Amino acid sequence: MDIAEFRSSGHRLIDWVADYLEHADRYPVMPDIQPGELSAKLPELAPDRGESMDAIFEDFQRLIMPAVTHWNHPRFFAYFPANHSGPSILAELLSAALGVNAMVWQSCPAATELEQVVMGWLARLLDLPARMTGVIQDTASTATLCALLCARERTTGFRYKASGPAALEGSGPLVVYASSEAHSSVIKGARIAGFGTDGVHQVAVDADRGMDPADLARRIRADRAAGLRPCCVCATVGTTSSTAIDPVAAIGQVAAAEDLWLHVDAALAGSAAILPEMRWILDGIELADSFVFNPHKWLLTNFDCSAYFTAHPRVLTRTFSILPEYLKTEHDEQAVNFRDWGIQLGRRFRALKLWFVLRSYGAEGLRALIRSHLDMATGFAAWVDQSQDFERLAPVPLQTICFRYNPDKESAQSLSEAKLNELNQALLAAINRSGVAFLTHTSLEGRTCLRLSIGQASTRPEHVEQVEQALMALRPR
Ligand SMILES: *Cc1c(COP(=O)(O)O)cnc(C)c1O
Repeated sequence: MDIAEFRSSGHRLIDWVADYLEHADRYPVMPDIQPGELSAKLPELAPDRGESMDAIFEDFQRLIMPAVTHWNHPRFFAYFPANHSGPSILAELLSAALGVNAMVWQSCPAATELEQVVMGWLARLLDLPARMTGVIQDTASTATLCALLCARERTTGFRYKASGPAALEGSGPLVVYASSEAHSSVIKGARIAGFGTDGVHQVAVDADRGMDPADLARRIRADRAAGLRPCCVCATVGTTSSTAIDPVAAIGQVAAAEDLWLHVDAALAGSAAILPEMRWILDGIELADSFVFNPHKWLLTNFDCSAYFTAHPRVLTRTFSILPEYLKTEHDEQAVNFRDWGIQLGRRFRALKLWFVLRSYGAEGLRALIRSHLDMATGFAAWVDQSQDFERLAPVPLQTICFRYNPDKESAQSLSEAKLNELNQALLAAINRSGVAFLTHTSLEGRTCLRLSIGQASTRPEHVEQVEQALMALRPR
């Protein structure tokens, strides 16, 4: 592609993107498509000869777009929000244009230093303890794996990384604690880090599904008595199913008394802590050894961008650093080399989009947006509570509402739980098939419920009202 063609195609694509962003709500949120349908329309082999941008772009519109789930649609209420925004998209374009690799300071000084600066900005916005230092990871799953590896190394005196499982001989297996509501990435990370699935012990939760610190303390004592080696606690602020909030301060006291690593996973919820009235969700964070939240979930920054903070950067770098000759530089004494702060060597220039977003919106702009999401969630929860036909199944501390269809919620002879589960699954399928909105589900104590997760930059109260109308129209009668 020569520069003239790049320029003209680029202008065309930017115009297309602007139109798409302006009218995302014209698309069905979920595509009407079956598995295998798209791949059957694509050639089996890559073309021998280069094709024109016109041809490629035409196929993008004709074939790819109809198979896209529109995460930035104002009525995308599934999983968690896709937080992209104009400034973030433009910064991603610049980052792609520069094509730098932020593995060491020398490989792109701007990427390393901007990352330090914006992570410092985020730490102040969330009012994190001064001893915490930040680094950008790709995802919360990776950040939690880093935390588990650091916990393992600190507990074994850095012997596991040298000797592998032999480091545990004579001392009993390591144990990680997380509540039954913790994200699956804790178990995945524990498997990778050598704890095994059996090395993750589930702590009981209270009525609001937050971790019970007394049960944590009991389990740690029992495990020590049984010859196991407690190592790490993963607390969750904003669980995936129902955004329950583990009491970090009480958990932190147990972890400190027992000398365990405390990792706090606030992947979705962390962004809310930039609001003074929501900062309580991180009460006790000064007791944490590490903390993660995802600006790519609720802070207008394109996927991927996960903010990982550690109180022990030396433990992190001792866990990960490895210095082959070809990576030595003359600045290794004075500069940070982020390749030593995580799993991969090569790193994208992700700080750029965060810098664009933080400057373009400003802290007040971001706060206003998050407040609007919280307000819409409160409004939808009130609608559910007042409805004859729907009921709420969990508290709503944040922007996610767990609810279900239950026409007999106030009568004694209600439908069986099995029947309600079936009706709610059918309702979810009907809503999603309609293209009006995309919601996902979860199960709380065996009860199937619909999850409405609010947080798109473009979502307004009328979009939530449209879901209410669709729920009323499609509910079984
Ligand atoms: C979304 C989520 C994760 C996983 O995030 P990734 O960045 O996709 O790995 C982990 N924990 C919680 C609480 C989450 O909400």
